[in-house]
Amino acid sequence: SDPFSTEVKPRILLMGLRRSGKSSIQKVVFHKMSPNETLFLESTNKICREDVSNSSFVNFQIWDFPGQIDFFDPTFDYEMIFRGTGALIFVIDSQDDYMEALARLHLTVTRAYKVNTDINFEVFIHKVDGLSDDHKIETQRDIHQRANDDLADAGLEKIHLSFYLTSIYDHSIFEAFSKVVQKLIPQLPTLENLLNIFISFLVLSQWSHMFWFLSPFSLKEDGAGTPYDKESTAIIKLNNTTVLYLKEVTKFLALVCFVREESFERKGLIDYNFHCFRKAIHEVFEVRMKVVKSRKVQNRL
Ligand code: GDP
Repeated sequence: SDPFSTEVKPRILLMGLRRSGKSSIQKVVFHKMSPNETLFLESTNKICREDVSNSSFVNFQIWDFPGQIDFFDPTFDYEMIFRGTGALIFVIDSQDDYMEALARLHLTVTRAYKVNTDINFEVFIHKVDGLSDDHKIETQRDIHQRANDDLADAGLEKIHLSFYLTSIYDHSIFEAFSKVVQKLIPQLPTLENLLNIFISFLVLSQWSHMFWFLSPFSLKEDGAGTPYDKESTAIIKLNNTTVLYLKEVTKFLALVCFVREESFERKGLIDYNFHCFRKAIHEVFEVRMKVVKSRKVQNRL
């Protein structure tokens, strides 16, 4: 329906052996399923495609693949799929013997790289909730070493793999997914610059410490119910000296500041600066949409 959708939606592929945890990750991160409910999920056995959110901030698609893709199956057009892919997440079950997974990772990455050298390869070392801290580090080191050795042996050391330790039982899966998505947002450097300017204002005024967060993962199941709207604000007094101040920036981005209580008396000035920041963010995203649209029109001519 949206003629521009293919250009503004980077595709993320979710791959890995059967039972590695792909469906669970998708359900927990995008459907707010509780981790325990995933015990009863049916394993992925067909390609599932899902569009995540309609915000201008993060538009992307997830493709959940069945365990074993047969690259030699002539009916499976993996070239077409890899060509349009922004990131390939490969899930490895760290509680299982991972030698087969590593072989599969190697095959998948080298095939994908041949078709598209721009793909970000992201390896989720998953289910680490079952490992001790020492074991986690050792597993990551071992997987990292073996995967890169395999690439080096194939003369493909220029392929970069990123590794994440993940579990659906804590925030690590959200953090990892957030990093994967952030790499695909072309406006991110601009966004960070704007945030730095805004933070400089607050810090120079000795008003606050602050950080920001991105919240792309509340799914719009029926097109309604986004996490924030224009009016979303929260002011929470944390202790005698600090106030937490949250404000909506875009539908899927909120800014959280920790402000000294006495500075909060000058809230008008904070709000004015915030207003400038918010306007700039909206302009960045509108410009991006226009560029995409005009490129599309030119292509059609
Ligand atoms: P898929 O075949 O790759 O889609 O795998 P599933 O999502 O069906 O997951 C297989 C099993 O792994 C399920 O029983 C999940 O509950 C379990 N699982 C998924 N993620 C985790 C995790 O982070 N930790 C643990 N301990 N188990 C998980």
